[in-house]
Amino acid sequence: MYKELIQKVAVITGGSKGIGTAISERLGQEGMNVVVNYNSDKKGALEAAEKVEEAGGRSAIIQADVGSEEGVQKMIDFAISKFGGIDLWINNAGMENQHSTHELSLEDWERVINVNLTGVFLGTKAALNHFLEKNKAGSIINISSVHEKIPWPTFAHYAASKGGVKQFTETVAMEYADKNIRINNIGPGAINTPINAAKFADPEKLANTVKMVPMKRIGDPKEVAAAAAWLASDESSYVTGVTLFVDGGMTLYPSFQGGQG
Ligand code: NAD
Repeated sequence: MYKELIQKVAVITGGSKGIGTAISERLGQEGMNVVVNYNSDKKGALEAAEKVEEAGGRSAIIQADVGSEEGVQKMIDFAISKFGGIDLWINNAGMENQHSTHELSLEDWERVINVNLTGVFLGTKAALNHFLEKNKAGSIINISSVHEKIPWPTFAHYAASKGGVKQFTETVAMEYADKNIRINNIGPGAINTPINAAKFADPEKLANTVKMVPMKRIGDPKEVAAAAAWLASDESSYVTGVTLFVDGGMTLYPSFQGGQG
Protein backbone atom coordinates (compact mmCIF):
# COMPACT_ATOMS: atom_id res chain seq x y z
CA MET A 1 0.00 0.00 0.00
CA TYR A 2 1.01 3.57 -0.67
CA LYS A 3 -0.06 5.41 2.49
CA GLU A 4 0.18 8.85 0.87
CA LEU A 5 -2.77 7.93 -1.39
CA ILE A 6 -5.21 7.47 1.51
CA GLN A 7 -8.17 9.84 1.07
CA LYS A 8 -6.70 11.42 -2.04
CA VAL A 9 -9.13 11.85 -4.92
CA ALA A 10 -8.90 10.10 -8.27
CA VAL A 11 -11.05 10.47 -11.37
CA ILE A 12 -10.94 7.60 -13.84
CA THR A 13 -12.57 7.76 -17.24
CA GLY A 14 -14.25 4.70 -18.74
CA GLY A 15 -14.20 2.91 -15.40
CA SER A 16 -17.27 0.76 -15.99
CA LYS A 17 -15.32 -2.30 -17.14
CA GLY A 18 -11.96 -3.84 -18.00
CA ILE A 19 -8.79 -2.02 -17.05
CA GLY A 20 -10.77 0.97 -15.72
CA THR A 21 -12.63 -1.18 -13.20
CA ALA A 22 -9.42 -2.94 -12.13
CA ILE A 23 -7.66 0.39 -11.57
CA SER A 24 -10.67 1.75 -9.65
CA GLU A 25 -10.66 -1.28 -7.36
CA ARG A 26 -6.90 -1.02 -6.77
CA LEU A 27 -7.17 2.67 -5.92
CA GLY A 28 -9.95 1.73 -3.50
CA GLN A 29 -7.50 -0.69 -1.86
CA GLU A 30 -5.13 2.24 -1.51
CA GLY A 31 -7.87 4.06 0.44
CA MET A 32 -8.59 6.64 -2.26
CA ASN A 33 -11.84 8.41 -3.10
CA VAL A 34 -12.54 7.30 -6.66
CA VAL A 35 -14.85 8.98 -9.15
CA VAL A 36 -15.77 6.36 -11.73
CA ASN A 37 -16.81 7.81 -15.07
CA TYR A 38 -18.93 5.91 -17.58
CA ASN A 39 -20.49 6.80 -20.89
CA SER A 40 -23.42 4.40 -21.27
CA ASP A 41 -22.84 1.42 -18.94
CA LYS A 42 -24.27 2.65 -15.66
CA LYS A 43 -24.60 -0.90 -14.29
CA GLY A 44 -20.89 -1.54 -14.88
CA ALA A 45 -20.00 1.76 -13.21
CA LEU A 46 -22.12 0.89 -10.17
CA GLU A 47 -20.37 -2.49 -9.93
CA ALA A 48 -16.97 -0.80 -10.18
CA ALA A 49 -17.98 1.67 -7.46
CA GLU A 50 -19.06 -1.23 -5.26
CA LYS A 51 -15.64 -2.86 -5.75
CA VAL A 52 -13.94 0.38 -4.70
CA GLU A 53 -15.99 0.50 -1.50
CA GLU A 54 -15.47 -3.21 -0.75
CA ALA A 55 -11.74 -2.67 -1.19
CA GLY A 56 -11.78 0.12 1.40
CA GLY A 57 -12.17 3.34 -0.59
CA ARG A 58 -15.06 5.71 -1.23
CA SER A 59 -16.59 6.16 -4.64
CA ALA A 60 -19.11 7.96 -6.79
CA ILE A 61 -20.12 7.53 -10.42
CA ILE A 62 -20.68 10.15 -13.11
CA GLN A 63 -21.94 9.82 -16.68
CA ALA A 64 -20.00 11.83 -19.25
CA ASP A 65 -18.56 11.47 -22.73
CA VAL A 66 -14.78 12.02 -22.57
CA GLY A 67 -14.83 13.42 -26.08
CA SER A 68 -16.94 16.41 -25.07
CA GLU A 69 -15.59 19.44 -23.24
CA GLU A 70 -18.86 19.87 -21.32
CA GLY A 71 -18.72 16.21 -20.30
CA VAL A 72 -15.22 16.55 -18.92
CA GLN A 73 -16.13 19.76 -17.08
CA LYS A 74 -19.12 17.93 -15.59
CA MET A 75 -16.75 15.23 -14.27
CA ILE A 76 -14.38 17.69 -12.65
CA ASP A 77 -17.20 19.73 -11.07
CA PHE A 78 -18.74 16.52 -9.75
CA ALA A 79 -15.45 15.31 -8.23
CA ILE A 80 -14.90 18.67 -6.53
CA SER A 81 -18.44 18.78 -5.14
CA LYS A 82 -18.25 15.16 -3.92
CA PHE A 83 -14.72 14.98 -2.58
CA GLY A 84 -13.42 18.56 -2.48
CA GLY A 85 -10.74 18.40 -5.20
CA ILE A 86 -8.69 16.15 -7.44
CA ASP A 87 -5.20 14.70 -6.99
CA LEU A 88 -5.08 12.11 -9.75
CA TRP A 89 -6.71 12.04 -13.19
CA ILE A 90 -6.65 8.84 -15.23
CA ASN A 91 -7.51 8.97 -18.93
CA ASN A 92 -8.45 5.34 -19.46
CA ALA A 93 -11.49 5.42 -21.78
CA GLY A 94 -10.71 4.01 -25.19
CA MET A 95 -12.20 2.24 -28.15
CA GLU A 96 -11.12 0.42 -31.28
CA ASN A 97 -12.60 -1.04 -34.43
CA GLN A 98 -11.02 -2.78 -37.38
CA HIS A 99 -10.97 -1.49 -40.96
CA SER A 100 -8.52 -1.55 -43.82
CA THR A 101 -7.26 1.99 -44.08
CA HIS A 102 -8.47 2.46 -47.66
CA GLU A 103 -11.97 1.56 -46.44
CA LEU A 104 -11.85 3.42 -43.13
CA SER A 105 -14.63 6.00 -43.05
CA LEU A 106 -13.99 9.50 -41.80
CA GLU A 107 -16.71 8.85 -39.25
CA ASP A 108 -14.87 5.82 -37.78
CA TRP A 109 -11.56 7.70 -37.84
CA GLU A 110 -13.11 10.62 -35.97
CA ARG A 111 -14.90 8.43 -33.39
CA VAL A 112 -11.66 6.69 -32.39
CA ILE A 113 -9.56 9.85 -32.42
CA ASN A 114 -12.25 11.67 -30.45
CA VAL A 115 -12.30 9.17 -27.57
CA ASN A 116 -8.65 8.02 -27.54
CA LEU A 117 -6.81 11.28 -28.29
CA THR A 118 -9.17 14.26 -27.94
CA GLY A 119 -10.51 12.67 -24.74
CA VAL A 120 -6.97 12.51 -23.33
CA PHE A 121 -6.41 16.17 -24.26
CA LEU A 122 -9.68 17.34 -22.69
CA GLY A 123 -9.19 15.34 -19.49
CA THR A 124 -5.59 16.47 -19.15
CA LYS A 125 -6.50 20.11 -19.79
CA ALA A 126 -9.23 20.03 -17.12
CA ALA A 127 -6.92 18.36 -14.59
CA LEU A 128 -4.06 20.80 -15.35
CA ASN A 129 -6.36 23.78 -14.81
CA HIS A 130 -7.52 22.36 -11.50
CA PHE A 131 -3.95 21.70 -10.28
CA LEU A 132 -2.79 25.16 -11.40
CA GLU A 133 -5.77 26.97 -9.85
CA LYS A 134 -5.16 25.22 -6.54
CA ASN A 135 -1.40 25.61 -6.90
CA LYS A 136 -0.90 21.98 -6.00
CA ALA A 137 1.03 18.99 -7.25
CA GLY A 138 -0.91 16.51 -9.32
CA SER A 139 -0.58 13.38 -11.37
CA ILE A 140 -2.12 12.36 -14.68
CA ILE A 141 -1.96 8.84 -16.08
CA ASN A 142 -2.97 7.96 -19.62
CA ILE A 143 -3.77 4.40 -20.58
CA SER A 144 -2.07 4.30 -23.94
CA SER A 145 -1.11 1.00 -25.61
CA VAL A 146 1.79 -1.00 -27.02
CA HIS A 147 0.42 0.49 -30.26
CA GLU A 148 1.90 3.87 -29.41
CA LYS A 149 5.05 2.01 -30.54
CA ILE A 150 4.02 -1.05 -32.59
CA PRO A 151 2.29 -0.42 -35.94
CA TRP A 152 -1.07 -2.21 -36.27
CA PRO A 153 -2.36 -2.81 -39.79
CA THR A 154 -6.16 -2.34 -40.12
CA PHE A 155 -6.16 -0.29 -36.91
CA ALA A 156 -4.48 2.84 -38.29
CA HIS A 157 -6.82 5.20 -36.44
CA TYR A 158 -6.21 3.39 -33.13
CA ALA A 159 -2.42 3.33 -33.62
CA ALA A 160 -2.45 7.01 -34.66
CA SER A 161 -4.44 7.93 -31.56
CA LYS A 162 -2.06 6.10 -29.21
CA GLY A 163 1.03 7.42 -31.01
CA GLY A 164 -0.48 10.87 -30.56
CA VAL A 165 -0.95 10.22 -26.84
CA LYS A 166 2.78 9.41 -26.57
CA GLN A 167 3.91 12.77 -27.99
CA PHE A 168 1.17 14.58 -26.11
CA THR A 169 2.31 13.09 -22.81
CA GLU A 170 5.99 13.83 -23.39
CA THR A 171 5.18 17.42 -24.35
CA VAL A 172 2.84 18.10 -21.45
CA ALA A 173 5.30 16.44 -19.04
CA MET A 174 7.97 18.90 -20.08
CA GLU A 175 5.58 21.86 -20.05
CA TYR A 176 4.44 21.36 -16.44
CA ALA A 177 7.38 19.54 -14.83
CA ASP A 178 8.44 22.62 -12.87
CA LYS A 179 4.93 22.88 -11.40
CA ASN A 180 5.28 19.41 -9.90
CA ILE A 181 2.59 18.06 -12.18
CA ARG A 182 3.52 14.64 -13.52
CA ILE A 183 1.99 12.92 -16.52
CA ASN A 184 2.83 9.38 -17.61
CA ASN A 185 1.47 6.66 -19.87
CA ILE A 186 0.84 3.02 -19.24
CA GLY A 187 1.15 0.94 -22.39
CA PRO A 188 -0.77 -2.31 -21.90
CA GLY A 189 -0.12 -5.27 -24.19
CA ALA A 190 -2.73 -8.00 -24.57
CA ILE A 191 -4.91 -7.77 -21.48
CA ASN A 192 -7.93 -9.89 -20.66
CA THR A 193 -10.77 -7.33 -20.85
CA PRO A 194 -14.09 -7.02 -22.71
CA ILE A 195 -12.36 -5.16 -25.59
CA ASN A 196 -10.61 -8.48 -26.39
CA ALA A 197 -13.37 -10.89 -25.35
CA ALA A 198 -14.30 -12.09 -28.85
CA LYS A 199 -10.64 -12.47 -29.89
CA PHE A 200 -9.58 -14.41 -26.81
CA ALA A 201 -12.66 -16.67 -26.98
CA ASP A 202 -11.33 -18.02 -30.30
CA PRO A 203 -8.51 -20.51 -29.45
CA GLU A 204 -6.65 -19.87 -32.71
CA LYS A 205 -6.69 -16.10 -32.26
CA LEU A 206 -5.72 -16.44 -28.61
CA ALA A 207 -2.75 -18.67 -29.56
CA ASN A 208 -1.67 -16.13 -32.21
CA THR A 209 -1.71 -13.36 -29.63
CA VAL A 210 0.18 -15.39 -27.03
CA LYS A 211 2.87 -16.10 -29.64
CA MET A 212 3.58 -12.36 -29.71
CA VAL A 213 4.18 -12.21 -25.96
CA PRO A 214 7.63 -13.32 -24.71
CA MET A 215 6.09 -14.18 -21.32
CA LYS A 216 3.65 -16.48 -23.21
CA ARG A 217 0.48 -15.39 -21.51
CA ILE A 218 -2.22 -12.76 -21.62
CA GLY A 219 -2.06 -10.05 -18.96
CA ASP A 220 -4.53 -9.54 -16.15
CA PRO A 221 -6.13 -6.09 -15.67
CA LYS A 222 -4.85 -6.18 -12.07
CA GLU A 223 -1.28 -6.10 -13.43
CA VAL A 224 -2.08 -2.83 -15.22
CA ALA A 225 -3.76 -1.52 -12.07
CA ALA A 226 -0.60 -2.22 -10.04
CA ALA A 227 1.41 -0.04 -12.44
CA ALA A 228 -1.19 2.72 -12.14
CA ALA A 229 -1.01 2.65 -8.33
CA TRP A 230 2.78 2.95 -8.48
CA LEU A 231 2.65 5.84 -10.96
CA ALA A 232 0.07 7.56 -8.74
CA SER A 233 2.22 7.11 -5.63
CA ASP A 234 5.16 9.10 -4.31
CA GLU A 235 7.36 6.09 -5.11
CA SER A 236 7.41 7.42 -8.68
CA SER A 237 7.87 11.05 -7.62
CA TYR A 238 10.76 11.67 -10.08
CA VAL A 239 9.06 9.97 -13.03
CA THR A 240 7.34 12.05 -15.70
CA GLY A 241 6.82 11.78 -19.44
CA VAL A 242 7.44 8.05 -19.67
CA THR A 243 5.45 5.11 -20.97
CA LEU A 244 5.52 2.14 -18.65
CA PHE A 245 4.77 -0.86 -20.85
CA VAL A 246 2.83 -3.60 -19.07
CA ASP A 247 3.01 -6.10 -21.88
CA GLY A 248 4.91 -9.28 -20.94
CA GLY A 249 7.66 -8.10 -23.30
CA MET A 250 5.46 -7.59 -26.38
CA THR A 251 7.32 -4.42 -27.36
CA LEU A 252 10.68 -6.26 -27.35
CA TYR A 253 10.58 -7.71 -30.89
CA PRO A 254 9.34 -11.18 -29.83
CA SER A 255 10.29 -12.83 -33.12
CA PHE A 256 13.93 -12.54 -32.00
CA GLN A 257 13.20 -14.54 -28.84
CA GLY A 258 14.94 -17.74 -29.91
CA GLY A 259 18.15 -15.90 -30.72
CA GLN A 260 17.60 -16.00 -34.47
CA GLY A 261 17.97 -12.96 -36.69
P1 NAD B 1 -12.93 -1.89 -22.45
O1 NAD B 1 -13.65 -1.84 -23.73
O2 NAD B 1 -13.17 -3.02 -21.53
O3 NAD B 1 -13.13 -0.53 -21.66
C1 NAD B 1 -13.10 0.71 -22.30
C2 NAD B 1 -13.91 1.67 -21.47
O4 NAD B 1 -13.94 2.97 -22.10
C3 NAD B 1 -15.37 1.21 -21.35
O5 NAD B 1 -15.78 1.35 -20.01
C4 NAD B 1 -16.10 2.20 -22.24
O6 NAD B 1 -17.45 2.41 -21.87
C5 NAD B 1 -15.26 3.45 -22.04
N1 NAD B 1 -15.52 4.47 -23.05
C6 NAD B 1 -15.49 4.34 -24.41
N2 NAD B 1 -15.87 5.50 -24.98
C7 NAD B 1 -16.11 6.38 -23.97
C8 NAD B 1 -16.50 7.73 -23.93
N3 NAD B 1 -16.74 8.42 -25.05
N4 NAD B 1 -16.64 8.33 -22.72
C9 NAD B 1 -16.42 7.64 -21.58
N5 NAD B 1 -16.04 6.35 -21.56
C10 NAD B 1 -15.89 5.73 -22.74
O7 NAD B 1 -11.39 -1.82 -22.79
P2 NAD B 1 -10.10 -1.96 -21.86
O8 NAD B 1 -9.31 -3.05 -22.41
O9 NAD B 1 -10.43 -1.93 -20.43
O10 NAD B 1 -9.36 -0.60 -22.31
C11 NAD B 1 -9.04 0.45 -21.43
C12 NAD B 1 -7.93 1.27 -22.07
O11 NAD B 1 -6.78 0.43 -22.24
C13 NAD B 1 -8.26 1.79 -23.47
O12 NAD B 1 -7.74 3.09 -23.63
C14 NAD B 1 -7.56 0.82 -24.39
O13 NAD B 1 -7.24 1.38 -25.63
C15 NAD B 1 -6.33 0.51 -23.57
N6 NAD B 1 -5.66 -0.74 -23.93
C16 NAD B 1 -6.24 -1.96 -23.69
C17 NAD B 1 -5.56 -3.12 -24.04
C18 NAD B 1 -6.12 -4.49 -23.80
O14 NAD B 1 -5.50 -5.47 -24.23
N7 NAD B 1 -7.25 -4.65 -23.13
C19 NAD B 1 -4.31 -3.04 -24.66
C20 NAD B 1 -3.76 -1.79 -24.90
C21 NAD B 1 -4.44 -0.65 -24.53
